[in-house]
Amino acid sequence: MSFASLGLRADLLRAVTTQRYAQPTPIQKQAIPVILAGHDVLAGAQTGTGKTAAFVLPLLQLLADKGHPQRQPRALILAPTRELAAQIGERVHAYGIHLSLRSTVIFGGVGIQPQVNQLRRGVDVLIATPGRLLDHAGQRTVDLSRIELLVLDEADRMLDMGFIHDVRRILTLLPKRRQNLLFSATYSEEMRQFSDSVLHQPQLIEVARRNTAAETVIQTAYPVDKARKRELLTYLFQREDWQQVLVFTRTKAGANRLAEHLAQAGIAAAAIHGNKSQAARTRALDEFKRGMVRALVATDIAARGLDIAQLPQVVNFELPNVAEDYVHRIGRTGRAGAGGLALSLVSHDEMVLLKSIQRLLGRQFALKPVVGFEPALTPPPLEADASERRRPQAAKAGAGRGHSHAPPRAATPPPRSGGARRGGGQRSRPTLKPN
Ligand code: AMP
Repeated sequence: MSFASLGLRADLLRAVTTQRYAQPTPIQKQAIPVILAGHDVLAGAQTGTGKTAAFVLPLLQLLADKGHPQRQPRALILAPTRELAAQIGERVHAYGIHLSLRSTVIFGGVGIQPQVNQLRRGVDVLIATPGRLLDHAGQRTVDLSRIELLVLDEADRMLDMGFIHDVRRILTLLPKRRQNLLFSATYSEEMRQFSDSVLHQPQLIEVARRNTAAETVIQTAYPVDKARKRELLTYLFQREDWQQVLVFTRTKAGANRLAEHLAQAGIAAAAIHGNKSQAARTRALDEFKRGMVRALVATDIAARGLDIAQLPQVVNFELPNVAEDYVHRIGRTGRAGAGGLALSLVSHDEMVLLKSIQRLLGRQFALKPVVGFEPALTPPPLEADASERRRPQAAKAGAGRGHSHAPPRAATPPPRSGGARRGGGQRSRPTLKPN
């Protein structure tokens, strides 16, 4: 199937050709005709599926088909983060290059006046984060009364980030009659209620099963002691000669510390998170894309929606607290059909998080330790007092056993030790040839 057969205009097809997209992705095949036909859409699709083009192309066509640009926003695309908004803005520009529509991107963290100037000059497509858009609405520097098309991109993240009230307030500023498109990687009960209240008889489109990771991504977990994670990551960078890896940490401070550590080890690294200025974030992303920075260390929110084409590796330096975030994280790799590797460094205290991820994905991870980085800690025992006796013993046994002496282990664990209960733990001693 070609883009032409989806009913797109010649000037949009020319732009797509410039992007060298050979054929539409599944979400594009499904969504473009439905949006062109004027339906509301509820689409379950994660980043990397080509979802941006799936709504931007038909959106531009619908506006262009109506002729005369009004220079008052007729399409509004809401996104949860500045980076995502900026990336959508780039796409709107690229796909609309042969059209005479104008677009602008509005987000916080940068001066408001240039945005006011842009809005004054007249805009057909507005891409915005909710907070800054409300600032403009409050100052009456934007008029949303002519919006015909609303897109809520990464709506699940908007809810997670607490934007629901902002979004609801924005909805009150829009005309009642409009076309609504909602894109979300996950679908919770809260999302169901929200989408029910926004969408009118939506067409449902789902390309990857909900909460599943892209099929093309190989997922691996290395058990390792928390204190040795940085050392292991540095080692892996050297051993694998990684050139472009997105590394996730749970906290902003953790991202800074890790980036510094990597840089000290001679691996060019940059951190990207909400405390960094917009300019610093854009610069880090740009350097990463150009290969000057090998490790981009990010928190979940900062990394959301980052568009880095065909990222080969994602490393979860720490597992996310929320299992769904794991799916978002590894959605950064294996994009639009390309293969990828998602690697998680899992410390003893994160086993519970790993379990909830496994439950969500409906699959087990092989826990293979890296030689030389075998965790000293055994899995948690049943009773606290028992742990006092067993932990040091097991650690010593593990350290002294070497890599090829599996048999003594069978006799080692007492019947109720955590090691025996834990499926993954049985394989976690390095009798396997690693990696
Ligand atoms: P998205 O899911 O919108 O973030 O897009 C992910 C990546 O896929 C971006 O780098 C797009 O440029 C790329 N992409 C979008 N549509 C296609 C297509 N039909 N063929 C190949 N790559 C595409």
